[in-house]
Amino acid sequence: MSAEPIVEADIELFRKDAGVAGIFVDFDGTLSEIVKDPSEAMPRAGAAELLDELATAYKKVAVLSGRPVDFLVPFFSELVELSGIYGLEVVEHGNRVDHPMGGAWREVIDDVAAVSRARGPAGMRVESKGLSITLHYRGRPRLEPKVRAWAEQWATRSGLLCRPARMSFELHPPIPADKGTALLDLADALEAVCYVGDDVGDLPAFDALDKLAADGVRTLKVAVHSDEESPEILQRADATVNGPAGVVKLLESLRPGR
Ligand SMILES: [Mg+2]
Repeated sequence: MSAEPIVEADIELFRKDAGVAGIFVDFDGTLSEIVKDPSEAMPRAGAAELLDELATAYKKVAVLSGRPVDFLVPFFSELVELSGIYGLEVVEHGNRVDHPMGGAWREVIDDVAAVSRARGPAGMRVESKGLSITLHYRGRPRLEPKVRAWAEQWATRSGLLCRPARMSFELHPPIPADKGTALLDLADALEAVCYVGDDVGDLPAFDALDKLAADGVRTLKVAVHSDEESPEILQRADATVNGPAGVVKLLESLRPGR
């Protein structure tokens, strides 16, 4: 059964405990619309300002993305913590604190990106993110098996791990980091945590919330509806919102003192 649209009661529980609560959000498809050229994605109007405002009331506000933090930094103030490449890159209070095991893999990633550009399936788009690579078949769904085969082949050859993502496959260093580990790091000492995401890459964050809930933390898993939504994320969510516009409305209603 899929989750129902979010209701005021869900939100009120967070508003009243803002001082001990964290609001964590995904970027693509959550704060930003999904765009054909990923380099053109940007937060929906008002979203970054709302996160700043929430960061003054809530104990912690963070954006958790598969993108490098360098992409995210220009959009957000230092009040908002940033976790990039699924937790391998972190910016806290404006300071970069990357995963200690990440650096050694940059060269491998560069090599696999180069060979994928030179010899990968025709039509596959290669997006190198420094510490991970995304191999896209966006707009070409029939390319999926070829891109999958290429991603799996190069994962095996390079020691990187292959993960499915939205109309793409991603290759990551074999470091135990995902949005779940990133969330657990950020959630340290919080008594309530809300996470908003739209995609299979957000499922580890939902898993992490389930772990926190088992330890008595109040949690809220919010899934974002979209044209390409994953049934899994909707099934796992406590509540849903409609697209990034719905996320902005949710952030507005999370403002304490409303
Ligand atoms: Mg997303």
